[in-house]
This record gives sequence, C-alpha cells and structure tokens, in this order.
Amino acid sequence: MRGSLVWRIAVPFIVLILLSVGGVSLYFTHYTEQRYTDNLHESLKTSANILARDVAERIQNGASYDDLALVISSYAELTQTRITLIRSDGVVAADSLADPKTMSNHLDRPEVKEALKGPEGAEIRFSDTLKRRFYYLAVPVLSNGNTIAVIRLARDLSVIEGELRNLRMGILGVGAAITLLAVLLAYLVAEETLRPLRKLANKVQSLKQGDPNIDLPSGRKDEIGLLSRSFEQVAGQLSTQMADFQEERGKLEAVLRHMTDAVLIVDKAGKVILANPAAAKLFHTQIDQTLGRSLVEVVRQHQFVELWRVSRDSGKQQISTIETSPERYFVQGTATPLESSLPGSTLLVFQNLTRIHRLETVRRDFVSNVSHELRTPLASLKALTETLQEGALEDPPAARRFLQRMEDEIDNLTQMVRELLDLSRIESGRVPFDRRPVNPLIMMDNAVERMRMQAERGGLKIQIDASESLPEVMADADRIEAVLVNLLHNAIKFTKPGGQIVVSASQDGDKVVFSVRDTGIGIKPEDLARIFERFYKADQSRSGGGTGLGLSIARHTIEGHKGRIWAESYLGQGSSFFFSLPTA
Ligand code: ADP
Repeated sequence: MRGSLVWRIAVPFIVLILLSVGGVSLYFTHYTEQRYTDNLHESLKTSANILARDVAERIQNGASYDDLALVISSYAELTQTRITLIRSDGVVAADSLADPKTMSNHLDRPEVKEALKGPEGAEIRFSDTLKRRFYYLAVPVLSNGNTIAVIRLARDLSVIEGELRNLRMGILGVGAAITLLAVLLAYLVAEETLRPLRKLANKVQSLKQGDPNIDLPSGRKDEIGLLSRSFEQVAGQLSTQMADFQEERGKLEAVLRHMTDAVLIVDKAGKVILANPAAAKLFHTQIDQTLGRSLVEVVRQHQFVELWRVSRDSGKQQISTIETSPERYFVQGTATPLESSLPGSTLLVFQNLTRIHRLETVRRDFVSNVSHELRTPLASLKALTETLQEGALEDPPAARRFLQRMEDEIDNLTQMVRELLDLSRIESGRVPFDRRPVNPLIMMDNAVERMRMQAERGGLKIQIDASESLPEVMADADRIEAVLVNLLHNAIKFTKPGGQIVVSASQDGDKVVFSVRDTGIGIKPEDLARIFERFYKADQSRSGGGTGLGLSIARHTIEGHKGRIWAESYLGQGSSFFFSLPTA
C-alpha cells in the first residue's frame, strides 16, 4: 500500500534516522581522522624538533654525516619513524631506511621547501622510494639562525589508515544496524498506531454494506477511542434514520403500489420522475418505460399535458376531467405543484371515473325509463276511467271492454313492478340462490310444457333437442326455469306463425350450455350488444308490450349461478340465446 498512512508516518522518521545516523557517522569518522592526523603531526613535530636541535649541536661540534646517520638510525628505531637528513641544497645526507646515494635531490619536496622557509612543513604523500603512503614532517636544523639542513620524519600511514578503515567500517556497521533497527521500529510504531484506525475503516466498510453489528475499539482512551465513540454515535443515528427512512419509504411504496388512482410526478422540464403501477396500467405502459420520458409520451392526451403546464406556470392546483381516446375512459386529472418538497415538480393524480360515470348514466336512464314505463299504462288507465265516467258506463258492453283493457294495463303494471322487484333483489343479492344438483332435462321439460300452449296458439312448433345422458348442473331449478320461460316467451313473441323454436343443451367441459333458438325476426347487431341492459327494447314498435327487463333479470340470474349468457342473431333469420351453468 503505497498511499498508506503507515509509510507516510514511517518514511519521514526513516529519512530523519538515516540523515542523523549518516551525519553522526560522517562527523565521527572525520573527527577521528583529524584527531589521528593532529596527534601524529604533534608527536612527529616534537620528535623532529628534539632531533633537529641534537643534530645542530652535533654539526656544530663537527660530527660527520656518518655519525649523524647513526644518530638518525637510533632515533628512527626509537620513534618508529623513517628519518631523513637533507642538506640545505636538497641532497639527502642520511636516511634511516634507504641509501642516501640512491636518493634524488629532495629540494622539490613540498615539506622540505616549507621547512627551509619556515618553522615546519608537512605533507601526506606516496613515497616513490618505499612505495607506500607516508606522513612527512620536516623541520629546519638551525645553526646561528641559519638553516643548514632539514630533518624530515616520515611515518608509514598504512597502519593508521588500516585502523581508520576498521574504525570507519565499525561506525558504518553500527550506523547501519541502528538505521535498520530504527526503520523497523518506525514501521512497527506506525503500524501499531494505525492498526485500530484500519480496523475502524473496515468496520465502517461493513456498515456501508449493511452490517449493523459494528464493534469498534471505543474502549480506548486515545484519539482512536474518541473517533470510534463519535463514529458509533453517528452510525447509531444513521441506522435509526435509515430504519425510519426505510419504513417511510415502505409505507409510501405500499400506498403508491396499491392505490387505484394513477400517480405521476413530473419535473420542471416535463419529464416523468415517478409513476405507480396504476399509472402504468391506465396509460398502457410499464413503470420503467415511463421514467425519464416526457409527459406527453406517457399520457398521450394533450389535455393532461396542458393541465400540467397551467399548474406549473400558475403554481396552483388544476383539475379537469377528460374522455380519453381511444379507450373512452372518463379520467379526472389533478395537477398539484410540489413547491416545498420537490421545487419545480408537479404531482399528477388521475382517477378513472368511467365506472362511476357509467353507473351514474345507468341510474339516470333507469329513473327515466321507469317513469316512462309507468306513465304509459297510467295514462291509458286514466283515459279509460275518464271515458267510463263520461258515459261509457251507461253502455254495458263497451264498459266491460274498457274494464278488460284496464285489467290488462293493471296486469302489465303488476308484471313490471314484480320484475323490477325481482331484478333489484337479484342484483343486490338479497335472494340467495338455492343451488343444488339438477337434471337439465327436467328444467327444460318444465319450461317447454309451461309455454307449449302459448307457442301453439302462435302457430309455432316447439321441441327439445338434448341427450339423455347430460350431467347434472348446480342450479336453483325454479330460477333457471324462469330464465328458460323468459327466453321462450321472447322467442314466441318475436317469431311469426309457422316458425320453429328449439330448446337444446349440451356438455362443454365442466359446463352445460343451454340454448333457445328461434326462426324469428332476429336482432340488429347494434341492438344485440345492448339487449341485456335494463329496459332495453330493440324495436319499440315490435317489442310486443314487454318491459325490457326480462333479459336483464336472466343475465343476473345466470351470473349469480357462476355462468354466462350471450346471444347470436341474424336479422330476418332468427336468434339464438345461450347460457352456461357449471356441472354439479
Ligand atoms: P321484453 O320484456 O321487452 O321482451 P327482454 O329483456 O326480454 O324484454 O328483451 C329485450 C329486447 O330484446 C326485446 O325488446 C327485443 O327487442 C329483443 N329480443 C329478445 N329476445 C328476442 C328474440 N328471440 N328475437 C328477437 N328479438 C328479441
């Protein structure tokens, strides 16, 4: 981990240690070398001065160069140095290690040059004669203030240098060891300091992944402990907030998912940013296909887009109801600007009022139909009563005829009221059907027998076409017989003499399908779709005094039996009415 804090903390320490250990080592080595050289210089100088004085005295006393050579040799032995006596003209007069005759003129040697001029001369140099490095120190031999020769002491540096090298190596070794140790220590300290921090980071990571069981080193008394405790508090608050948030979100989602009203939220630019399943259903799309799309693409009704635009621009709630195309739904749209919660966005709620609208229409039609249906016989009764009062009573045969017509009208009224009551009771489910297994043939026989006379009077043939082995159906026999009688009654009413009526039944899976077919006048396709509605009569002039309630009652009865009723018809050729009932 190059970016890790461990290295960031350890590296400056390591650099500092390297620099200080290196510096100390360098200084120490240099200092030691200097001390060595200084000591050497001082000891050589002392010895040289003593010898110079001795040699000067001996020369003054007339000693020969051979005598001096002996003195020099013994001095050299005593001081462990090489000693050379050089005359002031540069010629080597004596040397403790070499033969002076083989030695070149030494006037060019820097230490000699300096010694001739001043109190001393010194140099470190490689000796051509002895092929080693030497420390040379030369002092003048003075006689009466004049330099008569130069005494030069030379110490072989190889021993000292060897020692110095060892010393340097030692210092370097210790320095390296200290550095290594310090680096290791720096790393360990940094690592140890940062381990709880790393642990903390891991815990935070696991919290991020939704694991609420964080166990932080909060018991520590240091900054890490402080950080952990603060973090624990924050994490606690965060998880409570998250839980609250999740709960709120869950509630909101549940409301949105299960509400029947369609909901859209549209941003300032007209893009849909939220949609519920009801909205997707109403606008025939999928939720994910609505998000990010423009409102017009989703709702495809320009009035709703206009509703949104007006609400957005005015900052006020707008409501309008439109009939959608092509579905012809009655939809009420409410656009509310979401000022504080989502500035610029608009909440659109759509309520499908189609069912309520239809029910309202049905209710209105029903009231007007009932009034209309009642008015006709009542007006006729009124007219008949008036005619009787105006003198027809005096004419008994006419009076009897009028009374007969009045009775017919009253019968009609009674029939209609009975049917209305039946219908309302069946519709509201107040008369539970007494469903038991029944043989279809028995119901068909009973119904046909009840209507046979009426059919024959109308010049019609009526017959049953069904197999003996039909399964039993679950039915309230009286009610189903009433449905069959009603269908037969219609068939007789709408078929001209000479026609034929066939009542049949056949099994279709777990159902038995009954049918009543006639060869009558037939029903127009546009009427066929509506004949099961209350009071609907296809052709008022030919309806033969019916109430228009029979088929409506039949439909409710069959649907109450978990069956289905439908009709097929060809104008001028006849009609077929079918209904199915589940087998027992
Ligand atoms: P109604 O009491 O008027 O017969 P129904 O609900 O039974 O009322 O029938 C509704 C309308 O359906 C009738 O007025 C008639 O126009 C049409 N209809 C029903 N059955 C037949 C049929 N077998 N042939 C032709 N038209 C029919």
